[in-house]
Amino acid sequence: MGQLSLKQITKTFGTFAVVKGVSLDVHEGEFMVFVGPSGCGKSTLLRMIAGLEHTTDGDIVIDGKRVNDLAPVKRGIAMVFQSYALYPHMTVFENIAFPLRVEKASEADIRTKVEEAARILHLETHLEQKPGNLSGGQRQRVAIGRAIVRKPGIFLFDEPLSNLDAALRADMRIELTRLHKQLGATMIYVTHDQVEAMTMADRIVVLNGGYIAQVGAPLELYHKPQNTFVAGFIGNPRMNLLPVTCRAVTDAGVEVDFNGQSLTIAVDVPAATRSTLAGASLSLGIRPEHIAIGDGDAVMAVTPSVVEYLGQQTIGYAPLPNRDETFCFVFSGTQMVEDDIPINVSFATSDCHLFDADGQALPRRVDASELGAPGG
Ligand code: ATP
Repeated sequence: MGQLSLKQITKTFGTFAVVKGVSLDVHEGEFMVFVGPSGCGKSTLLRMIAGLEHTTDGDIVIDGKRVNDLAPVKRGIAMVFQSYALYPHMTVFENIAFPLRVEKASEADIRTKVEEAARILHLETHLEQKPGNLSGGQRQRVAIGRAIVRKPGIFLFDEPLSNLDAALRADMRIELTRLHKQLGATMIYVTHDQVEAMTMADRIVVLNGGYIAQVGAPLELYHKPQNTFVAGFIGNPRMNLLPVTCRAVTDAGVEVDFNGQSLTIAVDVPAATRSTLAGASLSLGIRPEHIAIGDGDAVMAVTPSVVEYLGQQTIGYAPLPNRDETFCFVFSGTQMVEDDIPINVSFATSDCHLFDADGQALPRRVDASELGAPGG
């Protein structure tokens, strides 16, 4: 129970297309996160799965059954919203019990299920309180409790932690991961926060303008982004993209000219496109955390205009000649880099990414260990 397939789902509001042909399989027991910038359609997609929004085209299939025309309560799902949506005049017990009362469950059944949910969510001592007397995190747990008692095959979360402060969000992230392990249910979680996506997901769906930009495990998206959109969206600060020219394609990878230096980046290029690549303009991607001070495979001089000292990290921003973008570097620890004083920074070719003129990645050859494979 809890398997979901989306088949060419589209959604238009009037003539405005918001979701533009999304196909996706979510496996039973999987924690799937939808992430993307504001307006990319992630909440609309979740609301269509929930049945709160009509699907313009395509099929939504849950456990082998097309559910497009089924009412939300008949889909075997439960949804948790950012706003908690609790009844202020009811106690925590009654809020959690609410869907069971609607189903006309027996008093004994209600008590057993509410107490079980309260135990899982550490709310036992709050059952007689009203939501107004609880913290934001406790209120969100009540909302989750109300979902748990329905024993859904699929939990849907729409930015559930957005109203909480940073410390509480970090705590709740850990609690939700624990809850997912404990319940073993399928969970689909919408967020614009990439830290939530990276830390909680089994797989992440990155949405861009109503399309899927990439689906993959968190480390796969970090180490092998398929396009510049995902490369820029996953990772903070975002990946630097630098213009380079392809000199040649060899079995070792693609040789590029970077500021007069010849770098060979280990990427795969299909034999058929090798000849078209020579002389082409490409983008070389390098993450700020992969930049070091001093010598390396590739060296460049930068003059930081702003430096941020965070204690555990030193972050610098330097203008790039003839470009609107800013080059960013992150050094670990405190490094005495100063504004407006030029420094030499470097990076290793093994950390580089390459993208063609359309922003599509030339696939990197990465170590299995980078993708989180045990013993790889
Ligand atoms: P956010 O993170 O800001 O919530 P999102 O990715 O969840 O963004 P959606 O809420 O799915 O985005 O909205 C996608 C687009 O659809 C937005 O441009 C939004 O204005 C539009 N939209 C959503 N609901 C409606 C509606 N009922 N009528 C018209 N347009 C809508």
